[in-house]
Amino acid sequence: MTTTTASLSSREQEVLAGVKTDLLIGGEWRAASGGGTLPVEDPATGIEIARVADATSDDALAALDAAVRGQAALAELSPRQRSEILQKTSELITAHTDELAMLMTLELGKPLAESKGEVAYGASFFWWFAGEAVRFKGESRQSADGSGRTLVSRQPVGPSLFITPWNFPLAMGARKLAPAIAAGCPSIVKPAKLTPLTMLKLGELLLEAGLPPEAISILTATSASAISSPLLADRRLRKLSFTGSTEVGQKLVAAAADTLLRVSMELGGNAPLLVFDDADLDVAVEGAFQAKMRNGGEACTSANRILVQSGIAPAFIEKFTARMAAIKVGRGTEEGVGLGSMVDQDQVDKIGELVDDAVAKGAKVATGGERVGETGYFYAPTVLTDVPDDARLLKEEIFGPVAPIRIFETEEQAVAEANDTEYGLISYLFTTDLARGHRVAANLDSGMVGLNRGVISSSDAPFGGVKHSGYGREGGAEGIEEYLETKYLSMPF
Ligand code: NAD
Repeated sequence: MTTTTASLSSREQEVLAGVKTDLLIGGEWRAASGGGTLPVEDPATGIEIARVADATSDDALAALDAAVRGQAALAELSPRQRSEILQKTSELITAHTDELAMLMTLELGKPLAESKGEVAYGASFFWWFAGEAVRFKGESRQSADGSGRTLVSRQPVGPSLFITPWNFPLAMGARKLAPAIAAGCPSIVKPAKLTPLTMLKLGELLLEAGLPPEAISILTATSASAISSPLLADRRLRKLSFTGSTEVGQKLVAAAADTLLRVSMELGGNAPLLVFDDADLDVAVEGAFQAKMRNGGEACTSANRILVQSGIAPAFIEKFTARMAAIKVGRGTEEGVGLGSMVDQDQVDKIGELVDDAVAKGAKVATGGERVGETGYFYAPTVLTDVPDDARLLKEEIFGPVAPIRIFETEEQAVAEANDTEYGLISYLFTTDLARGHRVAANLDSGMVGLNRGVISSSDAPFGGVKHSGYGREGGAEGIEEYLETKYLSMPF
């Protein structure tokens, strides 16, 4: 790989040099058929650090040809063999933690400690589905009229396309690949063009773990639709799992209608975080901090609106603001950095625009509220109070380190405001009253609720949303269902 900068440390250069930057098509590394490449940038410096192959529609169709062969190769493996490949992948990811984390920090900008956390989270999906691969069940039933027997079995859906976002370069792919392999489905992954390197490295590890080569393709590309359009139009593709914005998800669902493709949609969020007067203040401040700042706020699960009851509000705002103001901002590879750069110029511009809009409409800046430095794409940890109803950031995903705080009086008011959004991915609430905790959780319109904790994603739980946050679940016993068809055999006794 060529790097165009001498500003990288020797370890960074070594890690970058260790990544294969060609396309992975059915287990083979190849240049793009059009010969093109696309740049990958370090967002902390704005400098190009790598070039990866730029796949064309022909490459996409070659990957689908391979996937069809991969379906047969996977079918020859027993559930236990698939389980062992998954277990081995989990171990290899863990063994390569430093390398994967470094790549992620270089292409995305988040601090190394957070990247290592994502590596562990990504590996845990392979570990979890290694167990599920040998546990998905069929059923034998007596037919209702007593005339015979019905055997219900499960079969892999078939060749699957995964389109993933830039914000979790490893985990968003891992959540799809692991259950697909467990179920016996070959995969084509199209990672986001801003952060392709981590996924390419994962491709190497999957092959090393013994995945049949035809069962995996990774297509990096400038034009997402050059990959998705021919594949969605081809009846051999049987499944699309997409993680990204609601807007793009809606387009893909429409495109998938022609072939009646099975789809899973993990889309945007606008998470409310409720703090009641009876909350433990320290638990609420720490939980809100984690819910807001995980991944620098560039997460679909990020607390987008912090709603605090009036009694606890002054103490909460003071403590939370102090916690935010104390974060060290800098390049993710530097020691002690708590917030790295945002992913690109567009992202930092959008955050600035949303903050400026809120402030122009009357919000007060308790801390932050501006870009940091002139190199790279840094934005200060920001707390806004007195945020008015019409501020855009109450309706739109902020996707950055900005916490808008609003005050409420009653539980009914808090739940109504929390649910006043087209999204429904995740909500958080903080209270020491268990009855209130259960009642409010039941009334919140979201696929997931965190009670007295700010991070709840885990490979053993069914991650997913309702309303405009999409449908389908990733993780848990439910995660494999996205990759299985149900079939029954009926026979007389
Ligand atoms: P995005 O929708 O712009 O892009 C996501 C992926 O779709 C990328 O690989 C992109 O290249 C591809 N894409 C874009 N346009 C396409 C098209 N017309 N046809 C086919 N593919 C296309 O999203 P993003 O900016 O990369 O990621 C941020 C969004 O992802 C946020 O809205 C966030 O909430 C969401 N997200 C959701 C979850 C979840 O699990 N619900 C997790 C992470 C991120």
